Amino acid sequence: MAKKKILFECQHCGLTTPKWMGKCTNCASWDSFIELNEHQQEVVKQTKSTSSAGSKAKAVSINDIEESEVYRYSSLDKELDGVLGGGIVPGSLTLIGGSPGVGKSTLLLKVGSNIASTGKNVLYVTGEESAGQIKLRANRLNSNQDSLYLLSEIRLEQILVELDDRNYEFIIIDSIQTIYSEGITSAPGSVTQVRQVTFELMRIAKEKDIAIFIIGHITKEGSIAGPRVLEHMVDTVLYFEGDSSQELRILRGFKNRFGATSEIGVFEMRQEGLISATDISSRFFNRDSEQAGSALTVIMEGSRPIILEVQALVSESHTPNSKRQATGFDNNRLNMLLALLERKLEIPLSGYDVFINITGGIKITETAADLAILAAIISSFRDRAISKETIFIGEVSLVGDVREVYAVDARIKEAQMQNISKVLLAKKTTSKNKYENFYR
Ligand SMILES: [Zn+2]
Repeated sequence: MAKKKILFECQHCGLTTPKWMGKCTNCASWDSFIELNEHQQEVVKQTKSTSSAGSKAKAVSINDIEESEVYRYSSLDKELDGVLGGGIVPGSLTLIGGSPGVGKSTLLLKVGSNIASTGKNVLYVTGEESAGQIKLRANRLNSNQDSLYLLSEIRLEQILVELDDRNYEFIIIDSIQTIYSEGITSAPGSVTQVRQVTFELMRIAKEKDIAIFIIGHITKEGSIAGPRVLEHMVDTVLYFEGDSSQELRILRGFKNRFGATSEIGVFEMRQEGLISATDISSRFFNRDSEQAGSALTVIMEGSRPIILEVQALVSESHTPNSKRQATGFDNNRLNMLLALLERKLEIPLSGYDVFINITGGIKITETAADLAILAAIISSFRDRAISKETIFIGEVSLVGDVREVYAVDARIKEAQMQNISKVLLAKKTTSKNKYENFYR
């Protein structure tokens, strides 16, 4: 008889080792290891490896492969459909993460109601709040539908029983941290539980062709309590950026087996819940106030150009080490841009604190905003406002020249649509003469 394999797993980060450890070498947690039984070891094995070792597949000419078209149905929410790549895919498992209070439950209750209104059976499993509390919210959101069912349950086995009783097409699990499997001794929210429950939900989704959305709370440390073990198990991962203090909430795709991950969804919290934001293009900047330290740029979020206001504050430093701090922009890149200003334009910034803020809670991940950041810094330093009739598009290189960015046509078009009359950008551009009059 083969010797029984022993495996231990950290309940905070999911590290598995053949030996028990008092302190995890990966996440430094104490007393976080439990021993996995054979079934749990099997789940770990199946969910950790993406390759299917053992079964031999034969290579097929690409010409002989039939394309598989993904069927989708609409969530009746424009922004959610967009970030999902066109709608909900039956049989898919989607994780929606975000800080508590950002609007995950509200959004999914509304979407569940939308889907129920088309005649599909929808199950909302609540492990966080009572069915009565969800009902109150449904009243407020005007989300009562005959085929929207609530189940107040935290035991996975009981949820599975409910799924045998009625044909559901859409299921919401609120939240993954509260659901537990009775077959596992560790606490709800621990790595082993979260993985086991997600594994079962994945199986159910595929077997019954049900779309399942699971809500995961993200702790302050940035993990879905404990770790992000779920990410590689599910089909789609969406995260809410920012927190409940922001007017606009951004849902960003991080993984999507059925579409691109570059799209974002923009939502706003209204009385009727978290719904698709309207008139997004004019929401991230304020053209009426002209103040020193503010400059406009256009960034691309997926296929969507968004005009953003970049703010800078340059103030005399009273400490030996001047502060450089950016919110929504990379700190290292800010330091590089500041060094450039000193070297190339001889602006003596070393004795000044520099703060950068991007409005609307958006994080800029592309270099196209460099020029606007520089403009905002100089504007604040000189205490001279920049006209809101001007927009800045361009990457700034280490040697100090302005470089062209991609999708420049789409960006300029967006500026035009918002009646912005001047664009500052790199000299050479691919957009030929299309906007000739505009560049002037
Ligand atoms: Zn650990």
